[in-house]
Amino acid sequence: MTGGGFRIGRILGINVHVDWSWLFIFALVTWNLSTAFGQFHPAWSLGLRWGIALVASLLFFASVLAHELAHSLTARAQGTPVRRITLFLFGGVSNIQREPESPGQEFTMAILGPVTSLVIGAALTLLVSWLAAPAPAAARDAVGVIRSLGPVGTVALWLGSVNIILGIFNLIPGFPLDGGRVLRSIIWKATGSLQIATRWASWVGQAIAWVMIFTGIAMVFGVQVPYLGGGLVSGLWLAFIGWFLSNAASQSYRQLVIQDLLEDVCVSDIMRRNPRVIDATETVSTLVHEYVMGTDERSFPVLDGESLAGIVTLSDIRQADRNEWGSLTVRDIMTPRDELLVVAPDDDVGEALNVLTQHEFSQMPVMEQGRLVGLLRMRDIVRWLQIRSDGRESVRQDLA
Ligand SMILES: [Zn+2]
Repeated sequence: MTGGGFRIGRILGINVHVDWSWLFIFALVTWNLSTAFGQFHPAWSLGLRWGIALVASLLFFASVLAHELAHSLTARAQGTPVRRITLFLFGGVSNIQREPESPGQEFTMAILGPVTSLVIGAALTLLVSWLAAPAPAAARDAVGVIRSLGPVGTVALWLGSVNIILGIFNLIPGFPLDGGRVLRSIIWKATGSLQIATRWASWVGQAIAWVMIFTGIAMVFGVQVPYLGGGLVSGLWLAFIGWFLSNAASQSYRQLVIQDLLEDVCVSDIMRRNPRVIDATETVSTLVHEYVMGTDERSFPVLDGESLAGIVTLSDIRQADRNEWGSLTVRDIMTPRDELLVVAPDDDVGEALNVLTQHEFSQMPVMEQGRLVGLLRMRDIVRWLQIRSDGRESVRQDLA
């Protein structure tokens, strides 16, 4: 899950990014809390309510960050580099650079996130019970206790329960949630195969997601569920979370299938050899009439003498003013060499595909000893997968 967002800083050498969806959650949580505080503490001024709601939201943010840092720092201690943490709608994603090397490593890395949330939750709950202790015996029902709490106790009570929910939610044993990773590490340990383990953990994830979706729909239609209650809003939320989980589970499964199909395939097996190249000094007009028309190529490597100068694509041509086609050269509109990523003939196609997808590239030049030897195109990878996937429909849909 990449998408838009911005960097807010760096903690212990890890970049922390915030997805735009977080601003929405932040506003929603602050608004909700200030309303709730008003119900329990009508004596609090509007400024105090909003101020405390804002502090509570910021601490919520810090709790999610603590959860992600627990994963990331564990991964780093195990020798896996972690470039960044992104906080988004339902929590965070640690961008851990590769799959864990052993079931034990995965288990430790996965479990420490929820454990952190649960420990924070338990500590805050203890704090609340200590703060609430002097309340008169008459006010000992739940609402009475909440009313007796001051600002610190109120924030601690809310934040404590949120952290406990966060910990429990992440322990749901559906991949790619933390609980799913724990399950995967156990199956991995038992079977000795990461692939079988991922497959099973994804299936369990799908099954749990569908149970959530059906339960949510049932709640919308008036069914009361123990602990969750019923009603339109709770039902829709549950169904929505289920849908989100289902997508995440099937996406990670598809990635696995694709990586499976591309195992031991190298770039030279798939690349287009001796692609048609164009000289940097040619005009855009020549490029259009003599190169683009009459072929189905969408991109041409650009040469400067013998060496690669860049790559030019149909979208570069589209951005150029039509009236200047005769005077503009290919060099003026191309993507220059220093902005390109290249691969080598014996690189792994699976890795190359990750790079293409991450940067939304359609092709990459293949270089060997400083010379252009081919072009690795996304559509050739897709075609290879279509041939190899024999009926695995989901792979095609994902890449098409
Ligand atoms: Zn986690």
